[in-house]
Amino acid sequence: MSTVPVAVVTGSNKGIGFAIVRALCKQFPGDVYLTARDPGRGQDAVAKLQEEGLRALFHQLDIDDLQSIRALRDFLKEKYGGLNVLVNNAGIAFKVHDTTPFAVQAEVTLKTNFFGTRNVCTELLPIVKPYGRVVNVSSMVSSSALGGCSRELQQKFRSDTITEDELVELMTKFVEDTKKSVHEKEGWPNTAYGVSKIGVTVLSRIQARMLNEKRKGDHILLNACCPGWVRTDMAGPKATKSPDEGAETPVYLALLPSDADGPHGQFLSNKTVRAW
Ligand code: NAP
Repeated sequence: MSTVPVAVVTGSNKGIGFAIVRALCKQFPGDVYLTARDPGRGQDAVAKLQEEGLRALFHQLDIDDLQSIRALRDFLKEKYGGLNVLVNNAGIAFKVHDTTPFAVQAEVTLKTNFFGTRNVCTELLPIVKPYGRVVNVSSMVSSSALGGCSRELQQKFRSDTITEDELVELMTKFVEDTKKSVHEKEGWPNTAYGVSKIGVTVLSRIQARMLNEKRKGDHILLNACCPGWVRTDMAGPKATKSPDEGAETPVYLALLPSDADGPHGQFLSNKTVRAW
């Protein structure tokens, strides 16, 4: 079994994830895995980095597919005995003018951004090694969407005692409410992406609490962050940051030094903890 430290970035064949891998190849003292749901796109991305003189390794990962997640987990366990850095970056967003019915957008967006990310965490967090770093890429949109929730929902999402099961129930209820066209009456904002990212931010707060309770001595730091508004296929060419600039905060959190005791369980943008 290899004792080399290992970092994994989800959805990293393009955009911010690709830039995170590029930065980690330069700064992380170990093996860096670029992962993609499509092996062809993933290998092309690895080749692009190779042209820059950088060595990333490839492993297939579709976060919508539990078998794919478990295959990566088994590989990491067998080859490295776990992992040191996990960046949950993979995500999707419908374009503003997409005419897909809102209930479909809600189901599809929550499936990947919340449920897929959660499944990766469920399978991979238990094998994160002591002093590991976990970064969940959320969005400032999670904060604005939180502001658009009813007072009752806001209270639940800000609660320091909400459980993962309760959060899953709420995310499931959002999707069901959109199907019945009652989501606004039920206190939800009109943004599927925003609700999915509320899920990612709140999940991170819960997971950090669980690490405090169950693995206190392991010094693992887990945070959510916003990369900023970044020029990628998702956000378009008018966004203000380059992908490399968008990678800065996720990479900062992925490389928090071993003597750091925070941030942990926080939501950050521009390397700064934000109020939730
Ligand atoms: P992007 O250019 O569209 O890249 C998204 C990446 O996620 C792609 O590699 C995509 O793979 C992958 N992906 C999607 N679904 C997947 C799945 N089921 N399994 C594995 N990979 C999957 O978007 P981006 O702007 O870089 O976004 C990266 C993250 O930052 C997302 O979580 C996004 O919500 C967040 N974010 C972005 C901005 C922004 O301004 N761009 C702002 C705030 C937050 P394919 O190539 O196969 O589709």
